Amino acid sequence: MAWDFETDPEFQQELDWIDRFVREEIEPLEHVLGSPWNIHDPRFEALVRPLQREVKARNLWACHLGPELGGAGYGQVKLALMNEILGRALFAPIVFGAHAPDSGNCEILAHYGTPEQKARYLEPLLDNRIVSCFAMTEPQGGADPKVFTTRAEQDGNDWLISGQKWFASNARYAAFYIVMAITDPTVSPYKGMSMFIVPADTPGIEIVRNVGVPDDPEATHGYLNFDRARVPAENMLGAPGEAFVVAQVRLGGGRVHHAMRVIGQSQKALDALCERALSRSTQGSLLADKQMVQERIADAWIQLEQFRLLVMRTAWRIDKYQDYMKVRKDIAAVKATMPKVLHDIASSALQVHGSIGVSSEMPFVGLIVRAYQMGLADGPTEVHKVTVAKQLLREYTGCEDLFPDYHRPTAEAAARAKFSAVLG
Ligand SMILES: Cc1cc2nc3c(=O)[nH]c(=O)nc-3n(C[C@H](O)[C@H](O)[C@H](O)COP(=O)(O)OP(=O)(O)OC[C@H]3O[C@@H](n4cnc5c(N)ncnc54)[C@H](O)[C@@H]3O)c2cc1C
Repeated sequence: MAWDFETDPEFQQELDWIDRFVREEIEPLEHVLGSPWNIHDPRFEALVRPLQREVKARNLWACHLGPELGGAGYGQVKLALMNEILGRALFAPIVFGAHAPDSGNCEILAHYGTPEQKARYLEPLLDNRIVSCFAMTEPQGGADPKVFTTRAEQDGNDWLISGQKWFASNARYAAFYIVMAITDPTVSPYKGMSMFIVPADTPGIEIVRNVGVPDDPEATHGYLNFDRARVPAENMLGAPGEAFVVAQVRLGGGRVHHAMRVIGQSQKALDALCERALSRSTQGSLLADKQMVQERIADAWIQLEQFRLLVMRTAWRIDKYQDYMKVRKDIAAVKATMPKVLHDIASSALQVHGSIGVSSEMPFVGLIVRAYQMGLADGPTEVHKVTVAKQLLREYTGCEDLFPDYHRPTAEAAARAKFSAVLG
C-alpha cells in the first residue's frame, strides 16, 4: 500500500521555515516595490538580495533544478508543497530563484544549451544576476503557432530575424530573449521553426510598447519588433526545426509550477473569505451564520482541495515517470482547472467583502484578473481541454455493434449466458 498523504517531518520543518519567511519577510515587499523582475531597481538590491542570500544559505535556492545546476533537486511533489507557500507572495518566486519565465528558460538552456551558451546565459540567469524573456506569441495570434510569421534567414554564418512578438513578459528587464522563428517555411511549422537566444541589445530590436495588465505594478509584457536582428549561428538553441520540442520542455513543468502557486493564491483568498465571514454582522448575525455564505465557504474549500489533490497527483506522476509526454493529460487538466479555481474563490471572497471587496484597496479584483491571465498564459484553457479530451479518447475504442455492452438488455443477455448453468 503506497498511498500516502503525509509530509516527511524534516521537510515539514523546512516548509514551516518557508511559511514564516514568506509571510514575514517577503509578503510586505509587494506593497513597496514595483515588478519583481525589475532587478535593476536599486531598492531590489537593498531589499531582495539579502533575502535571496538567506534562501541560498538554507539550500532552498532554485529547488526545481537538480544539484548539477545548483538546485536541491527536490522533485515535483516537494516542489508543490513549497510552491503553494511561495504562491502567497508576488516576490517569493524570485527570492527563491524559482520565478517564471527564467525557471523554464533555465530548464531549456540546461537541456539544449551548448557549453558556451550555458556559460554565457545559463550561469548568470541561474544566479538571478540577469533576467530573461520567452518570445513566442505573435500579435496576430498566440494559440495557433501556424499563424506565426517571424522569420530567421541565413546570412553567411549569421541569422537575420524579422517579425513581431507579443506579450513577451519582462522583455524590458531582460538581458536576452529566447525567440521562436521560422527557419524553413517549406515544411510544417512544427518542423520548420527554430529557437534562438537573442541578446536584448542586438541592433534591430525595438520594444514598440510595454503592455500592462490591470493591477500589475508595472507594464511588463513587451510588444517587440525585430528588423533583421542579427545573431550568430551558435545562438540557435537546439537543432534547426526543433523549436516546438524545445518549447515543450519549458512549458510542461512551467504550467504545473503556476498551478502550485495558484493553490497558495486561492488559499489566501479563502483565508480572507473565512476571516471576513467571522468578522462582519448583518441582520443580527455574523455573515458566517448565513447559509448562503456557508455555501460559498464550503464550495471554495472543496474546490481548492480537489484542485490541490489533482496538482499533487500530477506532481507525483511527473516524479514517477520523468517524462512529460506520459503526463500530458494530467498537466493539461491542471492547466484547464487552475483559472476557474482561482476565479471562483477570489469572486466569493470579493462578494462576501461587499463594497470594499470590489475596491482597489483589496486584492480580489487583482486575483480575478490573474485568474484570466492563468487561463491564457502558456495557452488558453480551451486548447488544454481539447488535449485532455484527445488524450482520454485514446484510451477508448468505439463499439462496432448496434448496442454497446453497457446497454441493459445486451448486458442481461450476456449475464444470462454466463450463469446459464445455474439459472437454466
Ligand atoms: C499574463 C500573460 C503572460 C504571457 N507571457 C507570455 C510570454 O512571456 N511569452 C509569450 O510568447 N507569450 C506570452 N503570453 C501569451 C499567451 O501565450 C497567449 O495569450 C496565448 O497563447 C493565447 O494567444 P492569444 O492571446 O493571441 O489569443 P488567441 O490565439 O487570439 O485566442 C483567443 C481566444 O480564442 C479562444 N481559442 C483559441 N484557440 C481555441 C481553440 N483551439 N478552441 C476553442 N477556443 C479557442 C480562446 O478563448 C482564446 O482565449 C502571455 C499571456 C498572458 C495573459
